[in-house]
Amino acid sequence: MKGRISSLQSLGTLDGPGIRYVVFMQGCPLRCSCCHNPETHDINGGTEYSAQEILENVLKYREYFGQDGGITLSGGEPLMQTEFAIEVFKKCKEKGINTCLDTSGCIFNDSVKELLAYTDYCMLDIKYATDELYQKYVGCSIKTPLEFLGYLSESGIPTRVRQVIVPTINDSDSDIEALKTLLQGKKIEKVELLPFKKICQTKYDNMGKEFPFGNIPSADVKRVNELQDKINQI
Ligand code: SF4
Repeated sequence: MKGRISSLQSLGTLDGPGIRYVVFMQGCPLRCSCCHNPETHDINGGTEYSAQEILENVLKYREYFGQDGGITLSGGEPLMQTEFAIEVFKKCKEKGINTCLDTSGCIFNDSVKELLAYTDYCMLDIKYATDELYQKYVGCSIKTPLEFLGYLSESGIPTRVRQVIVPTINDSDSDIEALKTLLQGKKIEKVELLPFKKICQTKYDNMGKEFPFGNIPSADVKRVNELQDKINQI
């Protein structure tokens, strides 16, 4: 089986615990207004790799992974190619490589559950705290990501919830209170708030596409840190 891959990063430090080999998979069913990887949207783009080829690449960097590092499947949305992701993670687990899934949690079915059985760590983007904001700025309901989060919590898979903070959209105290309420009672290792940035503007320009949040300023890091302090209190 072959998977469509947008790009590969050999020594990533932002995509899960420790140092990781990051596979940015091609294809995403969502259209987040804040998306910084528009080049990954088209499932027919990217380059084909077999799971064995990915494994062989990962093994070259094994000595850098230390105790916490390993492979991360990111995107795009890795769950667009769940069967391929299962094959990659199975092979990695056989070699003792730690596996991390970076996902929006927008697809949840039996194949995804099978993938999660081979997942050591999950980074789940809960993009907003309300269904209204999901419908408006993501293009789907909040229902499936929440179901996904509930399953992670019940299964005891270590989970980091991430959210991009976008000025005027989800940066008020009440937005963070709503997020806190949503996450209450869930087993979460960490909540990570990330500042909205606009370095992807040139990608949109080169693709001749409009950046939906192009008129919104980048997030103030101080404000994001304040909100991070508030959310850390859960
Ligand atoms: S889920 Fe990720 S890749 Fe897909 S549109 Fe949203 S931000 Fe972009």
